[in-house]
Amino acid sequence: MKKWISEKHDGLNLVVGAGISGAVIAERLANALGEKVIVVDKKKHFAGICYDYVDKNGILIHKYGSHIFHTDNRKVWDYVKQFSEFNSYIHKSSVAVEGKEVSFPLNIDALYDLFPQSFAVRLEHKLLENFKYNSVVGICTLTAFNDDDFEFLAEYIYENFGEVAEIRINRDSRMFNDKFQGIPSQGYSVLVENMLKNHNIEVCLNTDYKYMIHKDFKRIFFTGSIDEFFNYKFGMLPYDSIEFQIEEYDCENYQSAGVVNYPCTQDFERIHEFKHYSKSRINGTVIAKEYRREYVYGENDRIYPVCKDENLKLYREYSAYATAYKNLYFLGRLGRYKNLKMDEAIFEALDLFENVIEKKAKIEIKENI
Ligand SMILES: Cc1cc2nc3c(=O)[nH]c(=O)nc-3n(C[C@H](O)[C@H](O)[C@H](O)COP(=O)(O)OP(=O)(O)OC[C@H]3O[C@@H](n4cnc5c(N)ncnc54)[C@H](O)[C@@H]3O)c2cc1C
Repeated sequence: MKKWISEKHDGLNLVVGAGISGAVIAERLANALGEKVIVVDKKKHFAGICYDYVDKNGILIHKYGSHIFHTDNRKVWDYVKQFSEFNSYIHKSSVAVEGKEVSFPLNIDALYDLFPQSFAVRLEHKLLENFKYNSVVGICTLTAFNDDDFEFLAEYIYENFGEVAEIRINRDSRMFNDKFQGIPSQGYSVLVENMLKNHNIEVCLNTDYKYMIHKDFKRIFFTGSIDEFFNYKFGMLPYDSIEFQIEEYDCENYQSAGVVNYPCTQDFERIHEFKHYSKSRINGTVIAKEYRREYVYGENDRIYPVCKDENLKLYREYSAYATAYKNLYFLGRLGRYKNLKMDEAIFEALDLFENVIEKKAKIEIKENI
């Protein structure tokens, strides 16, 4: 065991989780406050569920599914760019319906892919007459018009894409509209590793925090599931999990976009093709079929918090209980039981650091002078 770990050291911070949230808080503690930090993660790799690796074919694989960085927040963008260059990838996603790959979210172009030309033209004109350009129109709005064509379109969308699907009144095929978009040139694992490269930070992978914990940490930042920290005292927070089946193909590209959704397939939900993210010229391609699974304790990963009222109530119970503990902070998608995008996770970690930790540290310094 390493020296720091066995030593008692009341100036030492413990960060549980080497995902993006843990990396931000550790980096800020080490760089902005010059404090020592131990980061532990039970996984054998950096970057939590943003983890990626280069496979034997030389393709960068996103192990837990496609991760596209997109944000409107200039501060977050400037922050991550300190640790990696980003390529200029703009995400486009499709949906497979009746054997065709159609732009998703649906847009005016999708009408032409789905329906005979004359009907698509009529629908386009009607949509543009009745809705603002660039607006997003849901099924209920279409149905409320009492128009046969809109009713047909609403029913078609409902049957093929589900009740939450909408149509964008434009030809924009970008999945996200954010100002800043891209993928770290060498991947998320390298990005996170770079964030944690600091003489004040020691990283222990393949280590559950339970083997580390002792009383004398200055602060503990926990990015695992809050119920686990309190030994499931009030019950277990439910999650959904996912599983991927990797397949290799001897063709340039398997599909037209990085992600193709399969809303009508009982089997898998989406197919990811990672080559799209790096303009790789390598021969052959690798895809991952994504299957939604129930989370089973000890068997698979907690992926999506199930944000139903009763679960959020349980989370709030844990969160209220945690306030009794001094210098213990929960953050990230598991710690806050929230489906956060990467930019949101980074923003929340920066916010915690700047508005709580740094402020308190400055007060302590003043008091000690
Ligand atoms: C399938 C999928 C696709 C996504 N795609 C995108 C996308 O395209 N764009 C986007 O912006 N966001 C995306 N996200 C969201 C993004 O993954 C999260 O915002 C981000 O991973 C949050 O990082 P985190 O550090 O909070 O959590 P995590 O990455 O889960 O990190 C938590 C870490 O804590 C560790 N840990 C937990 N418990 C313990 C313990 N007891 N002891 C030690 N270590 C522990 C875990 O091993 C893990 O490494 C996606 C999420 C999913 C699930």
